[in-house]
Amino acid sequence: MVLVYSENKNLTIEMLSKATEIAKEQKKKVTSAIIGKPDETLAKEYISYGADQVFIAETSLESFKAEEYADILVNIVKETGAETIFIGSNKNGKELSARLGGKLNAGCVVDSNNIYLKNNKLIAERVVYSGNAIAVEQFNSTPAIITVPSKAFDPLKKDDSRKGDITKKKIDSEKSASKIVKVQEMKTEGVNVEDAEIIVSCGRGFKNKDDIKMVQELADVLKGKTVGCSRPIAADLKWMSEDHWIGLSGHKVKPKLYIAAGISGQIQHIAGMRDSGIIVAINKDPEALIFKSADYGIVGDLYEVLPKFTNAVKEKMG
Ligand SMILES: Cc1cc2nc3c(=O)[nH]c(=O)nc-3n(C[C@H](O)[C@H](O)[C@H](O)COP(=O)(O)OP(=O)(O)OC[C@H]3O[C@@H](n4cnc5c(N)ncnc54)[C@H](O)[C@@H]3O)c2cc1C
Repeated sequence: MVLVYSENKNLTIEMLSKATEIAKEQKKKVTSAIIGKPDETLAKEYISYGADQVFIAETSLESFKAEEYADILVNIVKETGAETIFIGSNKNGKELSARLGGKLNAGCVVDSNNIYLKNNKLIAERVVYSGNAIAVEQFNSTPAIITVPSKAFDPLKKDDSRKGDITKKKIDSEKSASKIVKVQEMKTEGVNVEDAEIIVSCGRGFKNKDDIKMVQELADVLKGKTVGCSRPIAADLKWMSEDHWIGLSGHKVKPKLYIAAGISGQIQHIAGMRDSGIIVAINKDPEALIFKSADYGIVGDLYEVLPKFTNAVKEKMG
């Protein structure tokens, strides 16, 4: 049985697509787990995206604590007999999977973006050395735990006619020794680059913070409205909040159109946007690495190209 868990709905739906593929080959079932409130609407949605059954662990826990959730997941694994466990690779999921691996004495591969069976063995691939190599890892024991980042797999088409079982069970965990003293919300601008269909991104080719409004203008006329950036813009210069940051250590995106202006195209940036549909690069250096990943390249000064580009799109779009 393949068990799928993330508190993030979209991520769960993406993982369900790969889980059904693996389960089908193994002639097994897919179970999706929900921890917390017994949300049957969500359970039905998971069924419509491929789950054969949904296990709802009803708990009295008020907030996420990895040690308590790991306890609950151990119970779910025992109840369902899961042999393969997919966990969403976000901050909570990474901590949870490591603890679960420890409790179950199980192998755990983090951040896998390709999972398949070879000679009946489960294989998980992950990008290593900042995107310069791919590690191919094989599980020789069960259960096998794999964490999956967002956008690694496309969701299945929603099918509301699918039927599945929903099991509800009260499960409590050992009380954690840690307590949450304060919750401080991260400063964000409410941008969701991961779900954007069009992204215009800026890099260190911009000379001033004010100039990045040129990127916003192009994003606006393209009706994409989503602006991304390379790491230095968010982490070093702090011109944008971290929710715009794209790359290996930022967000992984998969828009239909990705425009990179003044970005050199180092592997760590490419790792976050390489799956985009069409990539357009604007850079004044004809040798810039970004052109190797781009479908269309414009060699030129972004201060000249961007306003012309924006006007041309404006005219075309009326
Ligand atoms: C462990 C690790 C993780 C990392 N994670 C990430 C990550 O998640 N995301 C990320 O982006 N980076 C990441 N990095 C950093 C990465 O290696 C690069 O340093 C970074 O992506 C470079 O950003 P940039 O392209 O904006 O700047 P630069 O490399 O400085 O490139 C600027 C580009 O702008 C061009 N340019 C300059 N002026 C103009 C102009 N007027 N018109 C047109 N073009 C112009 C230049 O030719 C150049 O190509 C990571 C690094 C490490 C070591």
